[in-house]
Amino acid sequence: MPIDPVALTADLIRCPSVTPVEGGALVLLEKLLTEGGFTCTRVDRGGIANLYARWGRQGANRTFGFNGHTDVVPIGNQDDWTVDPFGAEIKDGYMYGRGATDMKSGVAAFAAAAIDFVQDTPPDGAVVLAITGDEEADALDGTTALLDWMAANNEVMSVCLVGEPTCPSEMGETMKIGRRGSLTAWFTVNGEQGHSAYPHRANNPLPAMARLVDRLSSHVLDEGTDHFDPSTLAVVTIDTGNPATNVIPASCTAAVNVRFNDAHSSQSIIDWFAEEVAQIKGTFGVDIDTKVKVSGESFVTPPGDLSDLIGNAVKAETGRTPELSTSGGTSDARFVKNHCPVVEFGLVGKTMHQVDERVLVAQISQLKAIYKRILTDYFA
Ligand SMILES: [Zn+2]
Repeated sequence: MPIDPVALTADLIRCPSVTPVEGGALVLLEKLLTEGGFTCTRVDRGGIANLYARWGRQGANRTFGFNGHTDVVPIGNQDDWTVDPFGAEIKDGYMYGRGATDMKSGVAAFAAAAIDFVQDTPPDGAVVLAITGDEEADALDGTTALLDWMAANNEVMSVCLVGEPTCPSEMGETMKIGRRGSLTAWFTVNGEQGHSAYPHRANNPLPAMARLVDRLSSHVLDEGTDHFDPSTLAVVTIDTGNPATNVIPASCTAAVNVRFNDAHSSQSIIDWFAEEVAQIKGTFGVDIDTKVKVSGESFVTPPGDLSDLIGNAVKAETGRTPELSTSGGTSDARFVKNHCPVVEFGLVGKTMHQVDERVLVAQISQLKAIYKRILTDYFA
């Protein structure tokens, strides 16, 4: 009996798996995959549940991997929803619920495709599913835990497809062959507090901060590269918290978020920050503390066999040739790329993280058909 990806999506939505809660989602998948002939291992770490499933020989030369997550973001204000966020209700062709697009439908589609594929046409090789319960939060013990465990246990993927939603509005229009890197930096400028009537007796940190923020935000990082749009820097906050107009504050903190392409690394950006900070310190005689958090480096899987394989399957099932994109935020592909070539393809993600998140029911079956065709073509 073929696995129905729509029923499976509904079952998964009914598991309230808001990060870091497992919610029954991985338990359900483990049972289904075990019945489908997969060897399943729970790779839990740091209070996070993860599931590794393999059909076929360990370490096979041709191993096709799928990666995805069953955790979901919080529902927000339940009163804003017109349906039960964990009810999987179907209305006017859409299935509603938290995770409907991001990405329980994707996980259901690849699990159903993988089980059907190995039963219909057992391949000479292996099919691997690496499913995490920690993608939406810090992702410290999610896909990285799976990849660490795989490396320690001779488990491999030759290539990997991440099933995140990648299409902006029409099914099949976009796949992602890379992602920009992301980092956030906090700058604290420390001067000397004083009376605003006697500014010469204080050292006001605000002009220094204004200059720093202006220099950073007006700098052109690059003009874009072969596969990427230009890198961007956004000033996201400037805080002094000074309610008094007769006081020059002692310090001020600002944060910037940088989304960078393959013309940079997090280190090259950090080095640039250091140069700018040194200049401002010299000019204004202030101290500046810098704190940086790197969320991910930029990466690209250059167009080739893997993107062709996926593009051809998408074209065959939807009639559309997907555009190769590197836009958007980060995803777990940033970890997988250290293990093997990785591309992301999934359905339309318009409502992800929104109230009344929903997926076109027909797209779930279409996505399963695409994933199954990818497996068939890969092992042909
Ligand atoms: Zn996601």
